[in-house]
Amino acid sequence: MSGIALCPGPLPEESTTDRALAFTIELNHFDKSLKQLVMDTKAFKRALNHSEHYHRKGFGHQDEVAGVLNQEYQSDLIAEIRENNHSLTRGDVTIRLAESFGFCWGVERAVAMAYETRQHFPTERLWITNEIIHNPSVNQRLREMQVGFIPVLGEQKDFSVVERGDVVILPAFGASVSEMQLLDERGCTIVDTTCPWVAKVWNSVEKHKKRDYTSIIHGKYKHEETVATSSFAGTYLVVLNLAEAQYVRDYILQGGDKQAFLAKFASAYSEGFDPDRDLERVGVANQTTMLKSETEAIGKLFEKTMLQKYGPTQLNEHFMSFNTICDATQERQDAMFGLVDQDLSLMLVIGGFNSSNTTHLQEIAVERGIPSYHIDSAERIGPGNRIEHKPLDGDLVVETEWLPPGQIVVGVTSGASTPDKVVETAIAKVLALKAAAPVA
Ligand code: SF4
Repeated sequence: MSGIALCPGPLPEESTTDRALAFTIELNHFDKSLKQLVMDTKAFKRALNHSEHYHRKGFGHQDEVAGVLNQEYQSDLIAEIRENNHSLTRGDVTIRLAESFGFCWGVERAVAMAYETRQHFPTERLWITNEIIHNPSVNQRLREMQVGFIPVLGEQKDFSVVERGDVVILPAFGASVSEMQLLDERGCTIVDTTCPWVAKVWNSVEKHKKRDYTSIIHGKYKHEETVATSSFAGTYLVVLNLAEAQYVRDYILQGGDKQAFLAKFASAYSEGFDPDRDLERVGVANQTTMLKSETEAIGKLFEKTMLQKYGPTQLNEHFMSFNTICDATQERQDAMFGLVDQDLSLMLVIGGFNSSNTTHLQEIAVERGIPSYHIDSAERIGPGNRIEHKPLDGDLVVETEWLPPGQIVVGVTSGASTPDKVVETAIAKVLALKAAAPVA
């Protein structure tokens, strides 16, 4: 832990409901005023970029934190498996590690910036607007470094805890315009770790807005990244998957029941959205961690739809799209397709339960009919031949005898927010369980 200063001052006690309510109203006020004024989000972001209280690069302490990050998150065992063609055999167990897995550079960058921020502001009160990434162990380390998480009451964040002069970190998947504006006006120092890939999507929806296109965002409307992206959009509609996109396609081509449409997509569109008016010109954008093949299919679907409705000469007046699928998501999903083609006894998918990119890796294994166990930490394995895991769209379940007897091949992958150390511990547990199993 050398080189990382801890904040000497404790973070304040949990806020009261009244205070939370007051500041919820305050944030809602910002949301409302943004819409009323049709805020120029691009101009706001540009102005913020020039503010001396806004930082989106490190503070020059990279070398100091690099050693600590390596020590806390890297793994010798994983390095060994990587060098051995992503394979390891011990006793009855063969581990096949995906060609690409774990921490992406956007996450590495965000975590390093958070550590640097602590180093650079050793005595200031430090906050983060959300989990920096979807990984419980990394978030726990930040808590130990006296980085406070903005409390959430109901579905609203309670910004009343933040005071002038505090330092506030924005996580890798960004923050909404209203949150940035609130922090800026409160006189906070903002450290923005938003991944440049996410910022690229924001630029795309800005372009849609500028040309008066509705942004159709492939994502989860409640996911922090999509909340942030939609705050930069003008008119928008969030679709979760291809089936929802097809429903929208049918409405564009054949019309339908407007109220049923609005009920189906409740909370997933911009205020005042009218499917009869706002689906004439559409641009496609995405949450960067969605299933790549699905994002591409949705893009093609809307291109074809507009082609069918308006003809080739008018297509550009009704459809626009930019490639905003992040490389890391693409690589991890491609590697997963390579892994599930092998003869596997089972899959272990490691990553936060609220991590979208990890869930998509799990989907790929499930679709192939491979027994697949999604865990968020190695602690879910054991004691004995037991695992607590989260099935797709289900709650946590405990399964016993999950490691079959005899020789087994275990595919292993992890989401973009998962440190190698966590993967190492999970693999070590599997090896230990099998080594301890009675000989058949
Ligand atoms: S998954 Fe992609 S968009 Fe998300 S933080 Fe990593 S590199 Fe950035």
